[in-house]
Amino acid sequence: MRTKVVALISGGLDSVLAAKVILEQGFDVVGLYFTSAFSKSYGNEQETHAARVARAIGIDLRITDMGQDYIDLVRNPTHGYGKNINPCIDCKIFMLKRAKAVMQEIRAPFVVTGEVLGQRPMSQRRDTFHVIERDADMRGLIVRPLSASLLPPTKAEEDGLIQRSKLLGISGRSRTVQLRLAERYGVRGYSTPAGGCLLTDKNFSAKLRDLFDDKETATSNDIKLLTLGRHFRIDARNKIVLGRNNKENRMLVDLESKGYHLFMPDGFPGPVALLSGTPTQDINQTIGRLIITYSKQVPGRIYLIRHGKQVFDPGDPLPITGYFLRRVGADN
Ligand code: SF4
Repeated sequence: MRTKVVALISGGLDSVLAAKVILEQGFDVVGLYFTSAFSKSYGNEQETHAARVARAIGIDLRITDMGQDYIDLVRNPTHGYGKNINPCIDCKIFMLKRAKAVMQEIRAPFVVTGEVLGQRPMSQRRDTFHVIERDADMRGLIVRPLSASLLPPTKAEEDGLIQRSKLLGISGRSRTVQLRLAERYGVRGYSTPAGGCLLTDKNFSAKLRDLFDDKETATSNDIKLLTLGRHFRIDARNKIVLGRNNKENRMLVDLESKGYHLFMPDGFPGPVALLSGTPTQDINQTIGRLIITYSKQVPGRIYLIRHGKQVFDPGDPLPITGYFLRRVGADN
C-alpha cells in the first residue's frame, strides 16, 4: 500500500506541481483546499481551479471552510499584513495547523506545499518559512518540492522516504521553470498567482477595513456583501450597498433575511439598496434619494421607494459629490 501524504492545493500552478512531483515518487496524495469568505469562489467550491487541477492529476481533494476563526484572524493577524489586507504568514500557519490534523488522521509522514523560495516578498522567504513551521508546530514536516534542494532536508528526506535528488531547486519570481513543468505534466486549468484571494485586492481591502472599523464581529454574510454593489458610508454605524445590475440586485434581495434592511424602487427600474445599520426616517430618505440618483431620470415620473410594507416618496435625487455620504472602495 502506498504511503498517504497531505498536499495543500490552492488551485495555482505551484501547488499542483508540488503535488505532482510527490506523486511521481510513489505517494498517495490527499489534496486539501482551504476556502473562506475571502475566497472568490466561496460557496462554489466544486468549480474551483483547485477542483480542476486535482482532477487533472488524479488526486482526492478535501475542502475545508476556515470559518469564523479565520475571519477573526484576518482582523488581527500576529504577523501583520502584506501589501493589502492579506495576512499571508498567519494564513499559512492557520492552514498548516488544520493540515496537521489531517496528517495525523491519515497517518501521513509530511505535508506538501507549493511554496517557492523568494517568490513572494512576505511569506516565501527563508526566515518566514522558519516562522511558519515554528508557529504551526510543523518543524521538519513540511516538504516544499519546488525549492527543496535550496532548503534544509526535511524529516522525510532524512528518513529516506523521499529522494532529495528528485526534488527541485526553483527560486525567485520567474515562472519559466514551472510553465515548462506544467507543459511536461500536461497540467491545465490552474489559476493566476493569488488570483482566488480577495484579501490581495486593493478595493476589497478598503471595504474590509471599513467593515472591521464598523463591526466588532464580521460574519461571512457581511463579507459577501463587500463583493457586491456600490458602498456608501453614512456614519460609523450605517452603510448603504446599492446594486449595480440585476444579478447584484437579486443577490442583495437574498441577503435581506440575514439581518439587513432592504429598499427597492416601487414601479420603476432602478437599483436595490441594502442598509447595514438602523433605519430611521432620515436614513430611509437618504437611501431612497440615492436609489433615484442611480435610476434613469424620466421627466414627470414619480419615484416611490418600498421598504417592507412602507412605500414613501423620498424627494429629489442626491448630489453624490459634496454630500455627507462617503464612497468606500474606489472601483464603485
Ligand atoms: S494570498 Fe490570501 S489565501 Fe494566499 S496566503 Fe495570502 S492571505 Fe492566504
